Amino acid sequence: MNKTAGTSADKLAITGGPKVKTTPFGTGKRFGMEEVKELVEALEQETLFYHLGTKVKTFLADFNKMYGVPYSVAASSGTAAIHIALGAAGVTAGDEVITSPITDQGTLIGILYQNAIPVFADLDPHTYNLLPESIEAQITPRTKAIVVVHLAGNPCDMDFIMAIARKHGLKVIEDCAQSYLTYYKGNLAGTIGDYGCFSTNDFKHISTGDGGMVTVNSGKEEDYRNVHAFADKNYHRLGGAVNRGLSYLAPNYRMTELQGAVGIAQLRKLERICQRRHENGERITAGITGLPGVVPHQITEGGHCSYWFYMFRVDESQLTCTRDEFSAALAAEGIPNSAGYIPTTVYMSELFQHKQAYLGSHYPFELSDAEYGEGLCPNAEEILRKAIIVRANEFFTDADIEDIIAAIGKVADAYAKD
Ligand SMILES: *Cc1c(COP(=O)(O)O)cnc(C)c1O
Repeated sequence: MNKTAGTSADKLAITGGPKVKTTPFGTGKRFGMEEVKELVEALEQETLFYHLGTKVKTFLADFNKMYGVPYSVAASSGTAAIHIALGAAGVTAGDEVITSPITDQGTLIGILYQNAIPVFADLDPHTYNLLPESIEAQITPRTKAIVVVHLAGNPCDMDFIMAIARKHGLKVIEDCAQSYLTYYKGNLAGTIGDYGCFSTNDFKHISTGDGGMVTVNSGKEEDYRNVHAFADKNYHRLGGAVNRGLSYLAPNYRMTELQGAVGIAQLRKLERICQRRHENGERITAGITGLPGVVPHQITEGGHCSYWFYMFRVDESQLTCTRDEFSAALAAEGIPNSAGYIPTTVYMSELFQHKQAYLGSHYPFELSDAEYGEGLCPNAEEILRKAIIVRANEFFTDADIEDIIAAIGKVADAYAKD
């Protein structure tokens, strides 16, 4: 749109002009009779216990086939999946684990429950994923693992990260909660590191209400047994009689047959969901590239993104408005959006500021001299100050995507500096 055209359609809705979006966004049903059928079958088994029924087992077998992995284990959540991987990898008190400062707290919880110390590396300003050189700069003799977060379905730079990890003998855990069917150079995210952790909470690409999975990528049966046991109170149920001897502490993070049943039906929809989100996200990038003051969501080189959300950046130096004013103007045009993904980097949360993982205690932080303050990861902080998220849901129509692009363009043009 040309700023000098000056038609009334150019007048921003926030200043009384007409809205870009005048029709409702496309919607659809996530659950149908496919899920009902699986649930009924689960109940008719007369057991909802994963080890006695067939639903969780079938769900995992289908998932393994789709992902081309030898082993995976079901969990009660994505948070649990990450904790299981850390625990089975032997991450323990005082170990350091390098991870991302822009993520869900589910990435951090398992680290702290193992009494390990989260260490934050900075992010690429435009892919919003861990910078390999920043990871390497944080490695100390106490570093045990890296938890990479493929944010919003965009893969991390895994060639570099795996090379660093192998050089320093570190385990790599991929947090794939937001990155179903995300590819890095032809390989699926979740199959590249030692473990891949997925979430099926109600807000992810697919839902079982709550739930998660851990892939075991070494191909070693022993590793699979350890992961399996860590999800199940350290009961060893695989291959013969159950061994309940408690050799070390492990939580109960089991998935039930009800979740497994819904998961079977949801998995069958996953490819279509991810394909549609990929197309929507790519279309938004094509539509907003070159707009004044707008920096599209950049996909990692060699990456294929399944866009759990779409996050662009506002370059205030090219605009007469702030990021927050841009966000408000976009909302007024009928495009729901949020300014940033989380309010602050995770290390600015009270937990890290007060070094209080457990109520009334500074353990395990007192094992470490790690400090968490403003300026720790400058790129990450800047991303959260300048980013705007729009959704790229699979139910959105082509017209919805065109409206999102038109509205971003209208706002950018209206606020462009001369
Ligand atoms: C959702 C999410 C988690 C946690 O998953 P839950 O199933 O909610 O426990 C972890 N990491 C990331 C990046 C997530 O988006």
